[in-house]
Amino acid sequence: DAGDGDLLRVQDARRLFGGLVAVDNVSFEVGRGEIVGLIGPNGAGKSTTFNLVTGVLPLSGGEIHFEGERIDGLGPERIAARRIARTFQHVKLAPMMSVLENVAIGAHLRGRAGMVSGILRLDREEEKNIFGEAARQIERVGLADIMHQPAGSLALGQQRLAEIARALCLDPKLLLLDEPAAGLRHLEKQALADLIRRLRDEGMSVLLVEHDMDFVMQLTDHIVVLNFGARIATGAPADIQRNPAVVEAYLGS
Ligand code: ADP
Ligand code: MG
Repeated sequence: DAGDGDLLRVQDARRLFGGLVAVDNVSFEVGRGEIVGLIGPNGAGKSTTFNLVTGVLPLSGGEIHFEGERIDGLGPERIAARRIARTFQHVKLAPMMSVLENVAIGAHLRGRAGMVSGILRLDREEEKNIFGEAARQIERVGLADIMHQPAGSLALGQQRLAEIARALCLDPKLLLLDEPAAGLRHLEKQALADLIRRLRDEGMSVLLVEHDMDFVMQLTDHIVVLNFGARIATGAPADIQRNPAVVEAYLGS
């Protein structure tokens, strides 16, 4: 499959938890510079799919390819080093630490993934580079004014942007966002949508899990729909919106 255009190819991905089939032979692709939506009801297997792509969980079956190479089985550090970054459904910032310090953890992980303990023995030059990179990414998401505030004092929308800044420190080719708009106010959602579009315009690919359908429909190039772990549809936003199986499983009522 050398030279194929897809950045990420998930092929018959399967994940069992005991007797539960959380991800049931799911296949989909993310092309370069695409924003792809991954939607479905709670428990459909969306976050588990993220955990499979990022190597947090091993597959029970199937394969995952990135830039034409198999990445399943590599483990989270080596997958991150391939430049796949993610945010989590629940914000994972240290509330007492500043935005800058929180984001610097991401900058530190770049290039020496997994060596969290290494942060204790940085020389001054390395430390300057890491905080410089963190500050650049904070600026990129529009939080420069508040980078010295404790993360816990930020509005939820700002915390989500800070998490994205931390992920951006990995210089990702593919960014996975797990419900980034959940709980955000209208203006915060607009700022987030603008940021995602800007990242795409800079060449990044985005895989987006999100329940807010207006948000998903306005942003994505195509959409993958999961239900009880299985893919029940895939297609352009307009087609997904009027797909009877999708309406019944998810969009209806
Ligand atoms: P979604 O993100 O679409 O809401 P998840 O991927 O979180 O769904 O969960 C899919 C299914 O797998 C659910 O039934 C959930 O309870 C189950 N599940 C997820 N993670 C685990 C786990 N670590 N152990 C056991 N079951 C899990
Ligand atoms: Mg989830």
